[in-house]
Amino acid sequence: MTDCIFCRIGSGEIPAKLAAKGDGVLAFYDLNPQAPVHLLVIPTRHLSGANAVTALDRIVWSQVMSLAIQVAREQGIADSGYRLVVNQGRDGGQSVEHLHVHVLGGRRMAWPPG
Ligand code: AMP
Repeated sequence: MTDCIFCRIGSGEIPAKLAAKGDGVLAFYDLNPQAPVHLLVIPTRHLSGANAVTALDRIVWSQVMSLAIQVAREQGIADSGYRLVVNQGRDGGQSVEHLHVHVLGGRRMAWPPG
């Protein structure tokens, strides 16, 4: 989708600070980090969010989660712990309509989140 910012990052049209690449998936640094480590992991193929994931997408979903765990290891937060977040829709606080998993760590996370 040409008007989707994460599709454009995925295609290389818009620059982002990349952390890792996988088969059809990409990890990059969030522009507005909420923790010492804050990365986003996306499928390069457009999916609008969690609601758009179907059984047919189970491989890409597994690749997204695998890359999220891989970057957590590479960022040195696997042992101290981290949070994986998917925001869906208005009440979920989703601002970019392209499926993404936030990888947050490097500080103690509050629960429940505010
Ligand atoms: P969400 O609110 O869950 O949709 O999260 C969207 C995230 O994307 C926010 O944390 C933004 O800071 C981040 N973001 C938006 N545009 C960019 C960009 N061009 N590069 C990196 N992160 C971005």
